[in-house]
Amino acid sequence: MTYADPALADIERKLESNVPLSFEDGLLLYRTRDIHAVGRMAKRAKERKSGKNVYYVLNRYINSTNVCFAGCTFCSFAADEFKEPQRVFRMTADRVFAKAVETGTNFNQIHIVGGHDPRQLSLDYWLPLMRRFKEALPHAQLSLFTAAEIEYMAKRHRMSFPDIVRTLKEAGLDNVNGGAAEILGEETRAKICPNKVNSANWLAIHEELHRQGVASNATMLYGHIETLEDRVDHLIRLRESQDRSPGFNAFIPLAFHPDGNELSYCGWTTGLDDLRTFAVARLMLHNFDHIKAYWMIQGLKVCQVALHFGADDMDGTHGSTDQEMIYHSAGTRSGQYVDDREFRRLITEAGYVPVRRNSTYETFAWDWTPPQPERELVQA
Ligand code: SF4
Repeated sequence: MTYADPALADIERKLESNVPLSFEDGLLLYRTRDIHAVGRMAKRAKERKSGKNVYYVLNRYINSTNVCFAGCTFCSFAADEFKEPQRVFRMTADRVFAKAVETGTNFNQIHIVGGHDPRQLSLDYWLPLMRRFKEALPHAQLSLFTAAEIEYMAKRHRMSFPDIVRTLKEAGLDNVNGGAAEILGEETRAKICPNKVNSANWLAIHEELHRQGVASNATMLYGHIETLEDRVDHLIRLRESQDRSPGFNAFIPLAFHPDGNELSYCGWTTGLDDLRTFAVARLMLHNFDHIKAYWMIQGLKVCQVALHFGADDMDGTHGSTDQEMIYHSAGTRSGQYVDDREFRRLITEAGYVPVRRNSTYETFAWDWTPPQPERELVQA
């Protein structure tokens, strides 16, 4: 490969020899003007990992409550029950279940996250609901919570991390979502989310999940007040965590959205920054199998191009419900639902092979359907 920036040749040599890239390499990848070379290297790295496959999942996505008192400065989703009651929503467990199945049962993942809501976020609410899902929909993996929610429940029930993970796993937890990682560097984290899980505990919870055989993902919220050094440091912390206790499946870069939050002056990320971030992640995280281009965040079109910048996953259909509220509160222009035929069209047009998966990347034929439930799942 030829480079407009000759410094990239050293990085290419390291990649060919499977040598992990350094902090300085990461910064160089972010700062070089030769974004085409960065993209080519990332595409090659992606193809070494997953060949021509690009993954998607038929899923249901639900935000179960927006009540939260953590006060993260980048958040447009959380509502204070006492100061802005008109914005509050909080679903009963019956409502969450009914929402999940309202358009049928042909999905392989149920993805649910919510705020730190003292009236919902407890084992009394979640364990019966998880068991109900497992009994009624054994084909659908439970992709629940973030490490912030797990830490909140551990504190609430005076449980250690190993104990709460064991309890949730016994109730059917298959996968934990990658949110709440934000930026792991302590100085920046203290400015954006001082009241939720700290970086040491975020990592400790994921490592405990992995030790007990529960898979998880990892994210990074970029495009606000963080520096490029913060981003690279974040990726290296995740890589080291994966070495200590493997179990992360996918890394998902989350672009900051500015509408309706305290950091709105940071504005929107650009398409080039988005693409470069996919590529740098692919190159820095040699021990992560998947880099996800989440259409809800960067938009379908950027995510399709991201498949040529190291991404090998486009996330899920989200069913046909209307329950993604986190990014919709912050200004995303993405819709609520993508038909799986559209995923296959976009992936095929990019020159790749669409592969349907579940949370833990077991694969399915595109037209696989689960057995019909023996009885009505929700009483009219
Ligand atoms: S990001 Fe999550 S923890 Fe922070 S305020 Fe919003 S809902 Fe609460």
